[in-house]
Amino acid sequence: MSQKIQTLLAGQWRDASGPAYGTDYPADGSTVATLHAATAADVDEAVQAAERARLQPGWARLKRHERAALLHRIAGGIRERAEELAQLQRLDNGKPINETRALVASAAGTFQFFAAACETWEDTLTPSRGDYFTMSVHEPLGVVGAITPWNSPIASEAQKLAPALAAGCAVVFKPAEITPRMAIELARIAQQAGVPDGIVSVLPGKGSVVGEALVKHPLIKRIAFTGGTSVGMGIARLAADRLMPTSLELGGKSPTIVCADADLDHAVAGILYGIFSSSGESCIAGSRAFVHTSVYPQFKERLLAGIQALRVGDPASERTQMGPLVSTSHRASVERYVQLGLEEGGQLLSGGGRPSGALFDKGSYYLPTVLEGLDNSARMCQEEIFGPVLALLPWSDEADLIAQCNDNLYGLAAGIWSRDYKSAWRLGQALQTGTVWINTYKVFSVSTPFGGVKMSGTGREKGRLGILEYTAQKSFYWGLNESPMPWASS
Ligand code: NAD
Repeated sequence: MSQKIQTLLAGQWRDASGPAYGTDYPADGSTVATLHAATAADVDEAVQAAERARLQPGWARLKRHERAALLHRIAGGIRERAEELAQLQRLDNGKPINETRALVASAAGTFQFFAAACETWEDTLTPSRGDYFTMSVHEPLGVVGAITPWNSPIASEAQKLAPALAAGCAVVFKPAEITPRMAIELARIAQQAGVPDGIVSVLPGKGSVVGEALVKHPLIKRIAFTGGTSVGMGIARLAADRLMPTSLELGGKSPTIVCADADLDHAVAGILYGIFSSSGESCIAGSRAFVHTSVYPQFKERLLAGIQALRVGDPASERTQMGPLVSTSHRASVERYVQLGLEEGGQLLSGGGRPSGALFDKGSYYLPTVLEGLDNSARMCQEEIFGPVLALLPWSDEADLIAQCNDNLYGLAAGIWSRDYKSAWRLGQALQTGTVWINTYKVFSVSTPFGGVKMSGTGREKGRLGILEYTAQKSFYWGLNESPMPWASS
């Protein structure tokens, strides 16, 4: 049964002012929630309220340890409601329950980490070069617009909200239209933890309406964006008009390399996880596997056997490894790419269609799919599919391998499977990506910065320095002269 939900807008729980719409459960197409979309007027109201709230002494003057305590309470609030949040996120985007539980746990850890970073952050006394002393301090940037995609809402949103609150900013969220619930629940938890009214608002709705109005609002001082590259580029253009800082966490087409000396069991398990977990709806999906020709046949055999054992099914079941894709329209886009790959000369090794059976009829399921025989220049190897589709590519010459891996607009992540730490280091240094995993893949730590190069984006999230993205650095010079400045008095 569909649940009617409201949002937190300018300190009040209410309907936004735009038209009502529903969000669907990808596993069976049923409508699970109805809510109202926001309008440009709502954006203005939320941003104005955020600006007023952030300047109130109750927020602006909070001591670091008090702000940290607040973030710890948010982490506690997430943990108290962990199972409920995991189930809500499953209903929003159809991810298997084990995955959504892990995302909720990571969100709590993100608040805990930034609480520690906030409390222990030190401004600096810089070395003096005269009769003065100098300080460098960090001040909150102001109201931040946080725009997020549908694939891992609670994690993307925590990665923005936690450092922003730690820095003393206010946040106006624009979650993906089809997955608004995690941002709304995070706002509720933040309010219950004691974050003052107005500091966090959530504006559901379309990117072209709500998102754009947020980016253009003159009181927004930073956009923290996660999403597709073309939308990110549009945001960067608008931001350039005001020289507004942005962080852009964008798309990817990540290569994984299997070397001749790799432990093949580890490599197969890592590559299966890297491309098929989250049904491939992951920015860091390892969608191009370059396998050394000397081990290609064995690797392929083990990979295909591994795929046969994957459990595609009901996301509510703890046994399920792959749930449905987020929507039937997204599945249609994945299907077009596989068709294109076949037209470009690819041969299908596995999948390439929808699973059959009563369970799958109403949901937007798609089978784990592998193609070989494609050239790295094929569109299927160059463009982000954001689905469970792997291109298998043989390699033998290292220089050519590196050139092929880097011959792509994106530069988000890469994986290397090798027993030789020297060749892994050499390859890792040559790859143009923001992250390199060696003998592992798609593992994350909030203490380690994350972001892309090339068209995968700019800026970094996570890591201790993540707070600085939400601050402006200010320098102070304190004069110590006993007499007037010599220039004027000579
Ligand atoms: P998307 O770019 O379509 O949408 C992302 C967000 O931007 C949504 O909230 C959307 O409503 C909003 N938006 C759309 N048009 C806008 C506009 N004109 N102005 C302002 N906001 C606008 O992406 P998606 O389909 O929701 O998510 C999938 C994409 O996200 C993939 O490309 C994936 O690689 C990327 N992603 C990147 C990372 C990362 O950390 N690099 C993580 C997850 C997802």
